[in-house]
Amino acid sequence: MALPERILMGPGPSTVPDRVRRAMAAPTLGHLDPRFVELLDETSSMLRELFRTSNELTFPVSATGMGGMECVVANLLEPGDQALVCINGLFGGRMADMMERYGVTVHRLEKPWGEVFTVEEIEAEVHRHPKAKVLAIVHAETSTGAHQPLEGVAKMLHEEGMLLLVDVVTSLGGHEVDLDGWYIDAAYSATQKCLSCPPGLAPVSFSPAAVEVMERRKSTVGSWYFDIGMLAKYYQGRSQRAYHHTPPVNSIYGLHEGLRIILEEGIDARIERHAKMHRRLRAGLEEIGLDYLPEQSLHTLNCVLVPKGVDESGVRATMLDTYGVEIGGGLGPLAGKVWRIGLMGHSATQANVDLVLAALVDCLE
Ligand SMILES: *Cc1c(COP(=O)(O)O)cnc(C)c1O
Repeated sequence: MALPERILMGPGPSTVPDRVRRAMAAPTLGHLDPRFVELLDETSSMLRELFRTSNELTFPVSATGMGGMECVVANLLEPGDQALVCINGLFGGRMADMMERYGVTVHRLEKPWGEVFTVEEIEAEVHRHPKAKVLAIVHAETSTGAHQPLEGVAKMLHEEGMLLLVDVVTSLGGHEVDLDGWYIDAAYSATQKCLSCPPGLAPVSFSPAAVEVMERRKSTVGSWYFDIGMLAKYYQGRSQRAYHHTPPVNSIYGLHEGLRIILEEGIDARIERHAKMHRRLRAGLEEIGLDYLPEQSLHTLNCVLVPKGVDESGVRATMLDTYGVEIGGGLGPLAGKVWRIGLMGHSATQANVDLVLAALVDCLE
């Protein structure tokens, strides 16, 4: 199959290193093969390191990031529950929609796309709805580039008996994510953003408090595929693994290798590399007169305003055809107004930053 080589600098997927692709080409083993089970356990253990957690219930769900969201939502909440959802972009809105489909009453705390929430704003909402079971928030809003601070949020929720659910899809592996340090109860991510593996797996993690809440459920989980009670019998089965579904064995080889690459680089060094590449890109963009969406603060996703009179999608098409570089367009209210330039994992290099800048200069002329 002749497919073009691309440099992926959009909102995901990011470029997959050769080491990961080679790992995925290894022979497929049975999902109960002791060697595969060992490799799966190593994968979950490296995920704990990256999430900075000791949560037992940490593993890769067989689905993309949206499946990770669905797994967390379906298990933590049940029909009749109330939840608070912070919405300042596309993915917060999706969490609210998903919860409502599971029979949850959702209270939406909304801000304009691109802004973040203060602890005081969240606290006021928590006091307005003290019966809510969960507060859900996106750490890295890929639709806008907003970087939501999370320190201090969980403490106030826990005082009210609520759990904190966080989307760390575009932050894990690129920004500091500290599940235990920030007392996060449930989080999900995806392999194709800052982990630089192909799409298809969603790392998730649940705190002991979240596990307790799930054990106290009155109703069965509304999703068969994502039922944690059944999934745990396979992923945490020790020597007794119960078949639930056949996990995508070769994708797990890829994630295992991707996580090894991350730990070899070092989590702190990797986060610093993303910060450095973001500063370089930002300085270069400002030099050519391009502005960021106001308040944008993520390193991994750079949301840049399209100058007046410029053909937004035409520039993206030329970048792809002439330079083989993929960047993203805007979603929802930002459609046609912004470009989204990803600096994720293996894509976040100085060579790529300089290429994207040169290509943009050329396209804008
Ligand atoms: C990409 C993304 C998702 C969804 O992941 P998919 O792998 O596309 O299903 C969810 N949340 C955020 C913040 C994302 O950036």
